[in-house]
Amino acid sequence: MTRPARVVIQLPSLQHNLSRVRQLAPRSRIMAIVKADAYGHGLVRTATALPGADAFGVACLEEAIQLREAGISAPILLLEGPYSAGELNRIEALKLQIVVHDESQLDMLGQARLPQPVQVWIKIDSGMHRLGFPTSDTERVWQRLRSCPSVAPGIRLMSHLARASEPDSPMTKRQLQIFNETCRIFPAERSIANSAAILLWPDSCQDWVRPGLMLYGVSPVEGRTSRDFDLAPVMSFQSHLIATKALQRGDTVGYGAGWVCPEDMTVGIVAAGYGDGFPRHSSSGCPILVSGIRTTIIGHASMDMLSVDLRAIPAAKVGDPVELWGSRLLIEEVAAHAGTIPYELMCGVHKRLRFEEHGQD
Ligand SMILES: *Cc1c(COP(=O)(O)O)cnc(C)c1O
Repeated sequence: MTRPARVVIQLPSLQHNLSRVRQLAPRSRIMAIVKADAYGHGLVRTATALPGADAFGVACLEEAIQLREAGISAPILLLEGPYSAGELNRIEALKLQIVVHDESQLDMLGQARLPQPVQVWIKIDSGMHRLGFPTSDTERVWQRLRSCPSVAPGIRLMSHLARASEPDSPMTKRQLQIFNETCRIFPAERSIANSAAILLWPDSCQDWVRPGLMLYGVSPVEGRTSRDFDLAPVMSFQSHLIATKALQRGDTVGYGAGWVCPEDMTVGIVAAGYGDGFPRHSSSGCPILVSGIRTTIIGHASMDMLSVDLRAIPAAKVGDPVELWGSRLLIEEVAAHAGTIPYELMCGVHKRLRFEEHGQD
């Protein structure tokens, strides 16, 4: 028998979430962000399940190659552009689009001799101060790219928001203003909105929107969950009980004797642990569902197993299903408990886990 720990991917939920993006940004084209193995959901599986996306955004050439090899013909944007000049020929051959955010990439393009020009997005730093040219450089960069034979006409402009997940953040207002002002004189398609902006800042939805997290059915807004935005969680992390034991008051559980039974109680052992990507350091007290009933993890997760409090579930037995996160126990809640964000938990699910796809039934 195979190990019970597994990740279930609900493909119809991806489509539901994409249609939510369409409703919220009806005039925008949608670039589905599938970097980092589609936030841990599986790159090719996810892109294949989203035929309605107008384009895909990835972090690197390797990810784009996987998509092309899987037969995805939609436009694909390399969100950080080329990392070296050596990538440009492949980029052109695969008809990929690139972000240009740094002087070094202008040089690469200037020196390249490509059979056909590539589609470029200029990334402008509107205040996040991660990637992008200072706004005052936009005109110069635009001219330089316009005169570059390796760059296709129809250059586009993009930027990224640092605090879009905070309703009413003055910084977001300022970034939107700066971006719009900077773009004003260029006849170019624009994009600035990520998931949080699509959900909270309708004015930010321009020619293109770039949803990531919300496509996976998760809220990027602290204190709000997918339910508040009518999003459907795509990933669930499941396992089952592989042991139960009756312990006595004062008995300890796990490495470091990290839990002391406050009374006589039943404890269950679940086949899932930090070796699967479950956060170890803050697992104690974390909510978990056993047969759909809510209880908590006790002690620290170990590599392949963790322990749960079965006091509320006296009939629990080996083989009972466990949800670590999913459509009933939301990943937002687990992440908050673990002192992290859903992005990190999803990207961290280990590839050793069995992945199951659930399609339309
Ligand atoms: C990751 C990423 C996104 C998507 O962000 P979400 O918060 O997941 O919606 C959009 N744009 C860029 C440039 C990104 O790197």
